[in-house]
Amino acid sequence: MITEIKENSTNEEKRSLSFVEQLVEEDLAAGKNGGRIQTRFPPEPNGYLHIGHAKAICMDFGIAEKYNGVCNLRFDDTNPTKENNEYVENILNDISWLGFKWGNIYYASDYFQQLWDFAIWMIKQGKAYIDEQTSEQIAQQKGTPTEPGSPSPYRDRPTEENLRLFEQMNTPEAVEGSMVLRAKLDMANPNMHFRDPIIYRIIHTPHHRTGTKWNAYPMYDFAHGQSDYFEGVTHSICTLEFVPHRPLYDLFIDFLLEKDGKNDYRPRQIEFNRLNLTYTMMSKRKLLALVEEKKVNGWDDPRMPTISGMRRRGYSPESIRKFIDSIGYTKFDALNDMALLEAAVRDDLNKRATRVSAVVDPVKLVITNYPEGQTEELEAINNPENEADGIHHITFSRNLWIEREDFMEEAPKKFFRLTIGKEVRLKNAYIIKCTGCTKDDNGNVIEIQAEYDPLSKSGLEGANRKVKGTLHWVSSDHCQKAEVRIYDRLFNVENPSADERDFHELLNQDSLKVIDNCYVENYLTEKKPGEYLQFQRIGYFVLDPDSTPEHLVFNKTVGLKDTWAKQKTK
Ligand code: ATP
Ligand code: MG
Repeated sequence: MITEIKENSTNEEKRSLSFVEQLVEEDLAAGKNGGRIQTRFPPEPNGYLHIGHAKAICMDFGIAEKYNGVCNLRFDDTNPTKENNEYVENILNDISWLGFKWGNIYYASDYFQQLWDFAIWMIKQGKAYIDEQTSEQIAQQKGTPTEPGSPSPYRDRPTEENLRLFEQMNTPEAVEGSMVLRAKLDMANPNMHFRDPIIYRIIHTPHHRTGTKWNAYPMYDFAHGQSDYFEGVTHSICTLEFVPHRPLYDLFIDFLLEKDGKNDYRPRQIEFNRLNLTYTMMSKRKLLALVEEKKVNGWDDPRMPTISGMRRRGYSPESIRKFIDSIGYTKFDALNDMALLEAAVRDDLNKRATRVSAVVDPVKLVITNYPEGQTEELEAINNPENEADGIHHITFSRNLWIEREDFMEEAPKKFFRLTIGKEVRLKNAYIIKCTGCTKDDNGNVIEIQAEYDPLSKSGLEGANRKVKGTLHWVSSDHCQKAEVRIYDRLFNVENPSADERDFHELLNQDSLKVIDNCYVENYLTEKKPGEYLQFQRIGYFVLDPDSTPEHLVFNKTVGLKDTWAKQKTK
């Protein structure tokens, strides 16, 4: 998998065009919209961005960049009951972190007046009417894809009455749900979106930007394409679930062109497949429930599929972008393998991460022939993949910590770690020979003894001797205690969104493991969240924002090897 991604990035120029790029190039060749390219990324500020959004971001910004166009941000904020500024701020932050620059920032709420005026025009044209039925009644009359719907009793009310009631909908006195504005289209159309869709409803919750100015708000289908049109968007790229909305998108654009008496420009909607990942889900509604019910520690919990969660977990923006590039854009929905994302993360962090020493499950190792009180500063290479990253120093002494699982009193032949009578190398230090161990009354090893060979220091002549294993270690008087948080998949099933059971039942109850008696070398106290680390022989780690100098906290980003394939066959 890793090689696959490498190949993709080196062959970038040779890669064939995505179908979206092909359509854009066709439009350019046909001279549409004066050769102008303008896209938009349109998040609804009702949650944090997740990796699915990153796929849309890479497309929207990528097309603009490639064809010398512009990509704007538009907050699709037409439902004040779910939206707020905290979400807006975090969305901006996440897009910047991914490495994209937007042209302008727009809000659908900037167009409330224009949309209102358009709705009035629709009413005057006999293309919209006020329906005073309940939403249940309206739903009952919709029909089915094979049976036509039946008309509302209010469908043919006079224009003047429609105008008066529409004004009334927008007053504080209007009762939510008492009436809606519907487009008067075609109750028999096989496309259900044409059966007199609701285009305005009454909401009294104050809006995060316009406050209490409006009481009637446009629906998605009456805001999205229209906003594209007002802004001059040329390519409105979205996900496949909007395919059935496209004819309506086009019809409302036709109406706008008719209203404005224009015909020299129109936005075009193009749809691609959503990103879905194994063992997690992308529904903002369900992710919000996990946050509100405290099943996770916030939107940026490292187990979440959110951009902020992945950042906190230690994923680099480059690895997310490479992963998205590797899965590509198609016309078919699929489930993408989390292992592929992790491979991209591992591959990228291998080039970036500073190699450090940390002992996660410590046991004491005493070098009995090393003088008490003596210390040595040894050189540790920061990243063998990148010489420019330089070195740091690690202190060696008589008393060390090593991993418990790196010692076995009586070991089988193939055990190349520490066992009595055998030699191993301590990373960046000396070759040692194990001489014995001490156990408590229960038979647990509490201390291991070894002797070091003073001539075998890394880099010296005597170091050339062949030993099978190399162990990492920290000096017990020159290290810091640390908490390490280890994460597993958030859900137990491969595709929780497709499961009939309630998603709460599918949560992995053991998705977070906290280990609080780890030891890390002193050098790590200089690190900050966002600096990529490799705990040698264990995995990639990053400091968590919860960390303080007194209480270091690390998140495990990903292991050094793929453990998913193994787990799947369990
Ligand atoms: P919700 O989960 O609330 O239905 P949404 O996922 O559609 O919302 P939006 O904020 O409306 O969220 O999405 C902004 C843009 O991101 C849209 O263009 C949408 O098509 C795209 N997008 C959302 N989810 C994915 C996904 N899983 N893969 C690719 N693009 C996505
Ligand atoms: Mg949406």
